[in-house]
Amino acid sequence: MKNIKRTKIVATIGPASESKKILQKMADKGMNVARLNFSHGYYAWHRKVIKNIRELGKKIDKPVGIMADLQGPRIRVDSSQEVRVRKGEVISVVLNAKKKPKAVVKTGKYIMIHLPAVGKYLKKGSSILIEDGLIALKVISKEGNLAVCRAVNSGIIKPHKGVNIPSISSRLGAMTKKDERDLKFAISQGVDFIALSFVSSAKDITSLRRKIKKLLNSKSLIPQIIAKIETKKAVENFDSILEETDIVMVARGDLGIEIPETKVPVFQKEIAEKCLRTAKPVVVATQMLNSMIDNLRPTRAEVSDVSNAVIDHVDAVMLSGETANGKHPVESVSVMSNIIKETEKSPFDDLVHGFLGDKKISISAAVADASHEMAKNSDAKAIIAASLSGLTARMVARHRPDQKLIVMTNNIKTYQQLSIIWGVESYILSECKNLDQLIDKSIKEIKKRKILKKGDKVIIITGRPHIKKEHVSLIKIEEIR
Ligand code: PEP
Repeated sequence: MKNIKRTKIVATIGPASESKKILQKMADKGMNVARLNFSHGYYAWHRKVIKNIRELGKKIDKPVGIMADLQGPRIRVDSSQEVRVRKGEVISVVLNAKKKPKAVVKTGKYIMIHLPAVGKYLKKGSSILIEDGLIALKVISKEGNLAVCRAVNSGIIKPHKGVNIPSISSRLGAMTKKDERDLKFAISQGVDFIALSFVSSAKDITSLRRKIKKLLNSKSLIPQIIAKIETKKAVENFDSILEETDIVMVARGDLGIEIPETKVPVFQKEIAEKCLRTAKPVVVATQMLNSMIDNLRPTRAEVSDVSNAVIDHVDAVMLSGETANGKHPVESVSVMSNIIKETEKSPFDDLVHGFLGDKKISISAAVADASHEMAKNSDAKAIIAASLSGLTARMVARHRPDQKLIVMTNNIKTYQQLSIIWGVESYILSECKNLDQLIDKSIKEIKKRKILKKGDKVIIITGRPHIKKEHVSLIKIEEIR
């Protein structure tokens, strides 16, 4: 039992992993959710990949969740040629690519970025960080559309690389026109999760939720929102963002630029703890096995990083470049799975009794807490939760139970969205007339799939079960016969 992977894996899909063959291999090795990064790719490509992932889910009879990650107001180097800078050298940054000052273009070294609306907030002393902070520029003077900067270090500024300007990032807004188009497309494709980049406040989440509702045809197919925490403002407003969002992502790439990178590990732990207490899933992202983009073996530090995220009790860990455009996408998933399994075998990922405190969030939380206690005290092999929206599943999962956590749902969206939640194995069950039928059907499904054997005890719990018009909360011990 302990050797089944319980922490989930999100893998970013790109040229290295788009084929049906590689997708299947990655799922076999432990990929639970496929992430489509809308910073890249075009709709025909996304459409084809989504179709392949849905087919794969059916083929392997397991949910593979699909996450559409909206680019957000990402600033990019808007030049088509590389520019080499030396430490101390002066370089101009043209803030509106459409209005290049002639003098600069003729004489000096320059790059262009596109910041027409908020360029005015850039001040002397502001930092402009290129390619995850690999190259840093400091503004020494500012005149209209032009920021004259000094290079803090030497390097090559490559075309289209990402640019961070921490002093103005909270003024950029969370959604661009491109994001609006991408959202519409992602909804039309029935994705399970929408990740929002550069969130700065809870309002960004409520506004996205409103937009999603407007675009949806069916309420039962509503995608869940993932708030990417990657700005200073998001860190400051984290508690209110957590209340509004469905899921959290610690997007360490940008976060480590927007706040000092030395603060990121502690922040990751604080976020993970708050998410666990509130039963909101959390994903840790970026550079987890970065060296595997090129190499077959990860560094020791990377192995420790994945292992520590498991010890932080996160729901999922994420691969980005490793699976999107690296040389070893399948091996990266496999290595990540092995690290997770090895860590979960140890006592270090276990929750200390009483860690969650006594405060009950709701009836669902109370029922889930009791089911976990009963499972521990009755030597049950599994907790079976009937969950319509996934809430009961999350409430049980937050205890990180040793027992199997099997979730029966009649909602296809919930089935797919449970792919990201720690420890959950989800199955589809058709609607039941009454509780007896629900229990009966659940046990039949488990026997059919040989998940448990005769004589095994199971705890059955229903929060808001899929029984027509009934609102019951139930816990029951059954024996498999
Ligand atoms: C990150 O910055 O860590 C992240 C996940 O965002 P993106 O890859 O979209 O920049």
